[in-house]
Amino acid sequence: MDTLLGPDQWICHERESWIRLLGRFVPYPFQMNLRHLPREEMKECVLGLLRLLREQRTNKPAHFGEWISSVFGDGIARIFMRPYNFKVWAYPPEMLAYSWISDRVAVTDAERVVSNIIDERDDASWGPNNRFCFPKFGGTGSIWRECAVRLPSDKLRFNSEVRRIDTARRRVVLEDGTTNDYDRLFSTMPLDLLVELAGMDHMKPAARELLYSSTYIYGIGLCGSPCDELATKCWMYFPEDTCPFYRVTVFSNYSPFNVPDISRYWSLMAEVSESRLKPAPASAKLRVDELIRGLLNAGLIQREEDIMNIWQMKIDRGYPTPTLGRDAALNALLPSLDALGVSSRGRFGAWRYEVSNQDHSLMQGVEWADHIVMGSDEITVWHPEIVNHRK
Ligand SMILES: Cc1cc2nc3c(=O)[nH]c(=O)nc-3n(C[C@H](O)[C@H](O)[C@H](O)COP(=O)(O)OP(=O)(O)OC[C@H]3O[C@@H](n4cnc5c(N)ncnc54)[C@H](O)[C@@H]3O)c2cc1C
Repeated sequence: MDTLLGPDQWICHERESWIRLLGRFVPYPFQMNLRHLPREEMKECVLGLLRLLREQRTNKPAHFGEWISSVFGDGIARIFMRPYNFKVWAYPPEMLAYSWISDRVAVTDAERVVSNIIDERDDASWGPNNRFCFPKFGGTGSIWRECAVRLPSDKLRFNSEVRRIDTARRRVVLEDGTTNDYDRLFSTMPLDLLVELAGMDHMKPAARELLYSSTYIYGIGLCGSPCDELATKCWMYFPEDTCPFYRVTVFSNYSPFNVPDISRYWSLMAEVSESRLKPAPASAKLRVDELIRGLLNAGLIQREEDIMNIWQMKIDRGYPTPTLGRDAALNALLPSLDALGVSSRGRFGAWRYEVSNQDHSLMQGVEWADHIVMGSDEITVWHPEIVNHRK
């Protein structure tokens, strides 16, 4: 990363992530910071945890919904975990597996939860990203743009859609009719699309098991400066239905160069999920109206007139959903394709949410190349539990 951008081209941050609910901010992770809740809700959460200790459930949870209740208790499940997870995944927790969790969800330690309440201590340093760096200029895209200019340009081709893959002849056909022959094909297009373009009818039932949600991204340019409560926050989670977004980032806090003039402007980035079970309003105007109402309801902005500009984008494939049927489908699809010389990797290529961030996706490519050249194992795609294990 330092080679690509230069070591002084980063701004490092202590993570300040928060949960907004019941008209207040609670530091993340929620369960470690219950002291910020109103008395009744705090009591409900603590009693839920204590009941867990008494019940000592031994049955393996059948799905993510049961896993939430068995790890956090019914109080935390009702107030935060269930509504938040529906908002982010756009599918109910009963449809999801929990095999993807590893270090991605902070689990509970009842003694620490109670001590934090009694000692009035904030406990926010959990997790793999409690300190992070962000490019001074150009957002995370600048990393990959710099990476691309270092690659031989005659090997790069953009804006050419692959229309067909002939796995028998080992040939790819592009939209303009050009063909490319390959020895091994490394594909990062969505796996279900790959199965379609390769005409693998026998794999289509497994591919249909793969679900995803879409994401609307909004960039909100504002005049003035953030209120004191937002002055040092990085991002916030929103479980309640008073706003459409599940997460908002104070983007101008990541780098002052994310806005034209930091003395006069600031900015937010909001993310909203969508699926057939959680549709978003049909028109762009209605979606923006809902967004603005949500920003006001959540206290992120005080006046609509401060909004200078709203940029929006829909990412059709936002999150690869870790459904209950996912692993069986992937175990049928990925090795069969590999056997044909086609390796499907990356966020929607391998469809494993737990190894689909930028670092994971990059490493899937690096490890695949090493595997082809040197025969080494591809750890990231096949062993998420190893790469996500806390060092
Ligand atoms: C809302 C959201 C928030 C995220 N936040 C973070 C974050 O905070 N940190 C982080 O590390 N990661 C984050 N990510 C994940 C990050 O975007 C992915 O890790 C990364 O983009 C995966 O790279 P990839 O190359 O595997 O897949 P992609 O970036 O999806 O690339 C696949 C490419 O295949 C192309 N393609 C598809 N079909 C065809 C075809 N027929 N012919 C030719 N090309 C085709 C697509 O156009 C696309 O360019 C986030 C993603 C989303 C959606």
